[in-house]
Amino acid sequence: MLTLTALLVFTLASTSTSCADSSWLTRSHSCVGSPQVWEARPSPGKGLGVYATRTIEPGDIILSEPPIIHFAPSEFRDGVAYPLNDITATLQASFDALSPGEQAQVMSLHAYMTPAEKAGDQLMAIFRSNAYTTGDSLGLFPKGSRINHSCRPNTSQYWSANLGRRIVYANRHIEEGEEIYASYIPLLHPHEARQRRLDQYGFKCTCSACALDQGARNASDQRRQDLAKAFAAFESQLTLSVPGSVVGKRKARKNAEASIQLVEEIEKEGLADYYIKAYHIAAVMHARAEDWKPATLFANKGYETSLLADHNARSAGTKELQALTNHLINKWNDHLRDKAMEHGK
Ligand SMILES: [Zn+2]
Repeated sequence: MLTLTALLVFTLASTSTSCADSSWLTRSHSCVGSPQVWEARPSPGKGLGVYATRTIEPGDIILSEPPIIHFAPSEFRDGVAYPLNDITATLQASFDALSPGEQAQVMSLHAYMTPAEKAGDQLMAIFRSNAYTTGDSLGLFPKGSRINHSCRPNTSQYWSANLGRRIVYANRHIEEGEEIYASYIPLLHPHEARQRRLDQYGFKCTCSACALDQGARNASDQRRQDLAKAFAAFESQLTLSVPGSVVGKRKARKNAEASIQLVEEIEKEGLADYYIKAYHIAAVMHARAEDWKPATLFANKGYETSLLADHNARSAGTKELQALTNHLINKWNDHLRDKAMEHGK
C-alpha cells in the first residue's frame, strides 16, 4: 500500500494575533496595506524562491495564510506513515470544491513525482510535497509552499487555530533581498540523514549548513547529534527541586554548566526552533544549582523568544515561561535578602 510518509510534520502551537483580517501583519500588530515584505522570484537551482523585499526583524510576521485545502484525515497519526488511499477521496472532493482559479493555483505548486506518482495522481503528489499538519488536520498553503528549505532556516512557523491561518515569522534579522527559508524536516540530524529525508522532495540541499566544507560540516553534524542527545538527557530532569545531598548538588552544578554549553551550541548552529527549549533547560538547571541570576535571565530569554511567535502571551508554553521567570525573580530576591542579612550580622 502506498503511504503518505512524506508529509511535512511540524509541531504547530495555537495562538492568535489581533489583526485577523489582514494577511500582512507587523510585530506591533499594525495592519500594513500591501504585501511588501516578500516576493517570489527565481532562485538559482531551486525553481522559485521567496525573497525579502525589505529588512525583516525577529518576530515580524512574513506570511499569515489560510489553507486553500484543509481537512482532518480519519486516522491521523502524528508523523507516522499514513495510508494514502484513505485521503485520496477527501483530497479530490476538497479540490473539486475549489474555484477554477484556486484549482490552477494548487496545480501550479511544485511536486517531486515518484515513478508511481508519475503514472497516476498528480494532485496527491502535490499534496504530499506541500501539505502541513495543522493540529490534527492537514492543510495546503500555496503562498507558504513557495518558501524553500534550509537546514538553518531564518523563519519559524505555527498554526493559529483561532485565526485559521499558518503564520510564518522571522526568527532572526533578515536583510532586504535575502532568501527566506523554512525547514521541511527535523533538524537535529547529520547532513546525510537530513538529505535522505529530503530525497522525498527531489532535491539536494545546498543550504549554508549543507554547503560547509568537509571539516566544518563534520563539526556541524557532530553538534546536531550531541544536541539531540543532550535534549533527551535534560528532559528527564526538568524539575525545580533543589537536590539536598552533596553529590546531588555537585551534579546540579555540572548540569548547569552543561546547559550553558547546550545554549551556546544551539545558537552556534543557528537552530532557532530549539532556542526556547534550550533557554528553558538552562533556567531550570541553574535553579537546581541555586544559581538564581543566570536561572532568571535564561527563563526571561525563553519568555521573550516565546513572545516572538506568541505576541499576546496566550499559549501555555509562553505562560509557563512567564511564571517561571517570576518564580525565579522571587528566589533571586530572597537569596539577595538572605545574603544582606548575613552580612549585617
Ligand atoms: Zn541543508
